[in-house]
Amino acid sequence: MSDVQKINVLDLSLAELTAQVKAWGQPAFRAKQLYRQLWVLLTDEFEAMSDLPAGFRAFLKEHACISTLRLLKVYRGDGGLTRKAVFALPGNETIEAVLMVYPDRATVCVSSQAGCPMGCVFCATAKLGFMKDLSPGDIAHQVLWAQRMLREIPDDVDADGMVKHRLDSVERVPGRLTNAVFMGMGEPFNNYTNWRASVERLHDPDGFNFGARNFTVSTVGLIPGIRKLMDDPLQVNLAISLHAADDEIRSAMMPVNRRYPVGDLIDAVREYTDKTHRRVSFEYVLIEEKNDDLHEAQKLADVLLAKGKFPMHVNLIPLNPVDDIGMTRSSRERVNAFRNYLESRGVPATVRIQRGVDINAACGQLAGDAAKALSA
Ligand code: SAH
Repeated sequence: MSDVQKINVLDLSLAELTAQVKAWGQPAFRAKQLYRQLWVLLTDEFEAMSDLPAGFRAFLKEHACISTLRLLKVYRGDGGLTRKAVFALPGNETIEAVLMVYPDRATVCVSSQAGCPMGCVFCATAKLGFMKDLSPGDIAHQVLWAQRMLREIPDDVDADGMVKHRLDSVERVPGRLTNAVFMGMGEPFNNYTNWRASVERLHDPDGFNFGARNFTVSTVGLIPGIRKLMDDPLQVNLAISLHAADDEIRSAMMPVNRRYPVGDLIDAVREYTDKTHRRVSFEYVLIEEKNDDLHEAQKLADVLLAKGKFPMHVNLIPLNPVDDIGMTRSSRERVNAFRNYLESRGVPATVRIQRGVDINAACGQLAGDAAKALSA
């Protein structure tokens, strides 16, 4: 049976898995055992699930899979503290996930789609076009990969790199992931149902037990998704890829702005913070002479403060290099001036330190290059 027809057990909640296991003619308690192997022990092969009978393990191998993703390659950057995984889907589309280790903190950046339909002109993923929505299990699988990888890191970092990246001792490598951010390839709100189901899977206290507040979802600004999230009982953090406060500039950078212009977007975000009392982050990529003028900083502060303050933070990200886009990152002086201006207006802003630029793992650089992954 090919993986396309097999049941992806990571797609299923415990209740769904129980129904499936019964349909396979097994007692319900086997579902609990299987679920624990998958989500608590993080076993990634049926064969290794020693509490399941050999016959059932062989059956599972034939009829089910633990995610449809196939790991092609793991790149290492930042002295071993950043790892990028390239996975292939059954149709050979590729997606990427990035693990970043900091002192007492570890973040995985997860993809929600293969390719992306949003067409932002400065982003490597957008150049691929849209290929496929990922299933809940395939989204969650990337987090499980990162957790398994994290366990190997203390024995496998290079000391110079570690010091350079300010992790003074391996003791500071956390045993457990602390954050999962949906900032990899794709637009999570364009695959809302599957994205939301992946959070549900990972959050389950009987399973992986990942805290809702440790997830951050990032969107180009699809207002219907923001609305759904504000009514969701799960307390997931929200980030908005804003990148310009001026509609003309933003529409030229991000086609989505023609449908959901800046004013409407900020109104929706304000509604979200009114309802949830949770702080929202705005991502702002700084591109030389495009959106990094002090005049643009002023428009940004104006639009954010227009109807009074709400809990917010601006992350300034100097553009990461992407081939053939004909844009350059802002100079350090312009970045600092932009940040200082925002601060002077009372808008909290930080310049985000980027990880993984050397292995094309930083924001906007994920292109899932299968050919490179296979030949490297
Ligand atoms: N589609 C979602 C999730 C992707 S998050 C979203 O857009 O929010 C990836 C982040 O990296 C987004 O904020 C995106 O705008 C940003 N990005 C894209 N290209 C970039 C580049 N070349 N340099 C820095 N950031 C980039």
